[in-house]
Amino acid sequence: MNTIPLSNPCLTLLEKKLVMQVLQSSQLSLGSNLVEFEHRIARFIGSKYAIAVNSGTSALHLCVKALDIQEGDEVITTPFSFVASANCMLYEHAKPVFVDIDPNTFNMETEQIRDAITAKTRAILPVHVFGLPCDMQSITEIASEFNLGIIEDACEAIGAECRIRDPHRDSQNGNPFIDKKVGGIGDCSAFGFYPNKQITTGEGGVVVTNSESIAKLCRSWRNQGRSESQHWLQHERLGYNYRLSEINCALGVAQMQHIRSILLTRNKVAQWYNERLLGAEEIIRPFEPQDARRSWFVYVVRLQDRFTRRDRDNLMENLRKNGIECRSYFPPIHLQPFYAKTFGYKRGDFPNTEHLADRTIALPFFTNMTEFQVERVCAVLLQELRKIASTKNVPLNVSVD
Ligand SMILES: *Cc1c(COP(=O)(O)O)cnc(C)c1O
Repeated sequence: MNTIPLSNPCLTLLEKKLVMQVLQSSQLSLGSNLVEFEHRIARFIGSKYAIAVNSGTSALHLCVKALDIQEGDEVITTPFSFVASANCMLYEHAKPVFVDIDPNTFNMETEQIRDAITAKTRAILPVHVFGLPCDMQSITEIASEFNLGIIEDACEAIGAECRIRDPHRDSQNGNPFIDKKVGGIGDCSAFGFYPNKQITTGEGGVVVTNSESIAKLCRSWRNQGRSESQHWLQHERLGYNYRLSEINCALGVAQMQHIRSILLTRNKVAQWYNERLLGAEEIIRPFEPQDARRSWFVYVVRLQDRFTRRDRDNLMENLRKNGIECRSYFPPIHLQPFYAKTFGYKRGDFPNTEHLADRTIALPFFTNMTEFQVERVCAVLLQELRKIASTKNVPLNVSVD
């Protein structure tokens, strides 16, 4: 029995060709692939500048520095995310302040942001979880009301779009709303290109911004704080080695050449899942936004409330025994041992996040997935879930935790 993997990068002959060209040249870093990769990202997002770095985490760190967030400052974000979206504040000794999530979208509950704002709040860091855009209209309104910066963690959401009010368009001239790609809305944004993302550079990330001064700073920081002229070994500020090699950038250039078809294909795979799980009353399928477009990163199903964390864990074990890789996405950040120990968080602090984190499962999902594979995952998922349900013998929609 072949195991169906959780994710799988979509690499073609073009990737191999462009990487080979780098290997045959002698320019393995800071060359033309870096320039072209950044150019393609900026154009795709619709932003002025893109600064490629060696990971999404590095990109987030530079975004935090770019907004001059310092020791004691607070940044409002979500506990339902990959740990990097909160760690990036800690690198600068700033404090992540969590607000709970909306149980339908899994994104930050924007209603709660206002309550979390204090005199120390400097920025909001929305994460477009699983490729679904946050409510950026509300977030930009709150940010401008309280004079806060916005850092978008768009690491899971390249190509996702949301509808926001365009301040430059007069509402009398028709529709004041425009569809914008996520990552092009905040002051600066991070994308990540780890192999499980929609497109990959092996390891890698990028900062995207419309601010020339932020772009200049990020270019300097990623290269040891060098001066703008990039004078050999002249370091104006404390910098890092966050550079992305030409080999990685060549991968990125190739991936950007077929990003549109990658995103369309992922959408098709998600629709196969949606069709097969339609009507399965044990499961809640991923949220379908009305006025936004998701970029499919993972396919995560939520078990109905009557299932417990132990049911979910049993189900995952049974899926694995049947050759189907799966993962609980995400364990809440505030309950990660480091965060619990450092900040004293405990279960109960963010109930929606915890409730969902106990009941979500990421199923195999990748660009080259076949309809047959989707069918097999769904068949095994429903078969194993119904076995677990039949042992429970409780009425529908009654929570038993
Ligand atoms: C993948 C990801 C990142 C960045 O991860 P890296 O491994 O550092 O590239 C950041 N935030 C979120 C939400 C992610 O999913």
